[in-house]
Amino acid sequence: MTHPLCFRRRFLDSLPGDVDARPVSRQVHGALWSRVQPTPVSSPRMLAWSEPLARELGLQERMATDEAVRVFGGNATFDGMDPYAANYGGHQFGAFAGQLGDGRAITLGELVAPDGSVHELQLKGAGPTAYSRRADGRAVLRSSIREFLCSEAMHALGVPTTRALSLVATGDNVVRDMFYDGNPKAEPGAIVCRVAPSFLRFGNFELPASRGDVALLQKLADFAIATHFPEFGQPSRDSYAALLREVASRTAKLVAHWQSVGFVHGVMNTDNMSLLGLTIDYGPYGWVENLDFGWTPNTTDATHRRYSFGNQPGVGLWNVARFGEALLPLLGDERVAEEALEVYQRSYGDAARERFSHKLGLRIGAQEGDGELVQDLFTWMQRAAVDMTLFFRELSSRLREDSAPTDLPQTLVACCYREPDAQTREEGARWLARWWRRARSEATDVATVARSMDRSNPRFVLRNWLAQQAIDDAQRGDLATIHRLALVLQRPYDEQPDEVGLAQKRPAWADDKPGCSSLSCSS
Ligand code: AMP
Ligand code: MG
Repeated sequence: MTHPLCFRRRFLDSLPGDVDARPVSRQVHGALWSRVQPTPVSSPRMLAWSEPLARELGLQERMATDEAVRVFGGNATFDGMDPYAANYGGHQFGAFAGQLGDGRAITLGELVAPDGSVHELQLKGAGPTAYSRRADGRAVLRSSIREFLCSEAMHALGVPTTRALSLVATGDNVVRDMFYDGNPKAEPGAIVCRVAPSFLRFGNFELPASRGDVALLQKLADFAIATHFPEFGQPSRDSYAALLREVASRTAKLVAHWQSVGFVHGVMNTDNMSLLGLTIDYGPYGWVENLDFGWTPNTTDATHRRYSFGNQPGVGLWNVARFGEALLPLLGDERVAEEALEVYQRSYGDAARERFSHKLGLRIGAQEGDGELVQDLFTWMQRAAVDMTLFFRELSSRLREDSAPTDLPQTLVACCYREPDAQTREEGARWLARWWRRARSEATDVATVARSMDRSNPRFVLRNWLAQQAIDDAQRGDLATIHRLALVLQRPYDEQPDEVGLAQKRPAWADDKPGCSSLSCSS
């Protein structure tokens, strides 16, 4: 039986909005959303959808219907949907950017799932809104494929994230200057339907705060607490302080999780920081292959590397500081905002220690010298240009060996992007022997520890060149790669058959290919 659809109107009915539904760029004051309809597209076609998510939402019966194609392509709405775009601001690359808002995202409604949970369904690329500024409100197929695949892959890894329900080709072209070099080109357009309990960002709070609209800021904070953090109680200074501490702690845990799987977001502006601590706004993100803390996938950030892999924990802290500043009028005491930064640092340290403990199969800090052991590993991995995912995945097999290794095993040599010289091999072998003795000294049951390591060290991640292959194939009309990748990435920790080599080092052809090593923000 098809699950009947039920939509809530929590955001629309609780918060002041702008009822002017014209998709005309403007500054919107005193309102947290603007009503808007998606702009119809010429020939929507469903390219892929997420089975697991459709099932969770009670939509599995509907996804294969023509109606679903129309709804998720922006040409129709289900009864009970009342679409809007959210108004927010944010700090971009360190500077406050004023009003930004959903320039190409439109929330269709808040769907009640069969289990009673409520989820915003949001189209990305469904046409202009009040917040589109001079842009077109659309998204290209390549960036939509990347968002669709990575959202679901991150969820399967266990990393908090917004989800992706569907990927629809619009049949219309979108013009983008992909390399920002004055050569704009028509590309196929697409729309992703994203799903989250809330798409609220730090920036939703920063905008009213920057305008001195404390009443609006307070309405938003009260709504966020009542809806998403009811355990913090009635509106009060204490509840706002609890909200800030919770956001600090969730953000810290999220970034620690990113670090542990080698995910680089690429654009950690505060308009891309989720209030719920979810990974949000997949743009020029990337996966670390050869471990390099200075690496960023985002070509726009290539000079300053503000959002490089190694900077993510610090940027998370900086962003929480901006969120705390925005809440100051409600907190009434700067010390509360400062304490939140301590909460972040503590939570980050704890979460990172725990994640890397699981990855290494030992309790970091339980023995003298553990800190150096981890530091020495990172130093060696960077020098030896070691593939992060392959290396960590291989460790459980090494732990099962009956004695400490004396040489760097061939399986680990194969994880290096450069043939390691004698010194690099020797250093690697020495580290491995130290680690083996340390982990073995603690492991009462080696098989159990090794299994737990395999649940923290994924075998399959959405390597940049894998996403690019899926894009190239889809642009030729072949959707099989997207579907195969999506399926494998649903079980990233399992040993699955891998005939096509999804769990392998970046091949040489991908070293300099756009989309594989680096990406522009053009999307
Ligand atoms: P992002 O870098 O994707 O987080 O986007 C930053 C801001 O630019 C957000 O307010 C987006 O809604 C807006 N934006 C990005 N691309 C477009 C587009 N093609 N049309 C309208 N607004 C856009
Ligand atoms: Mg964004």
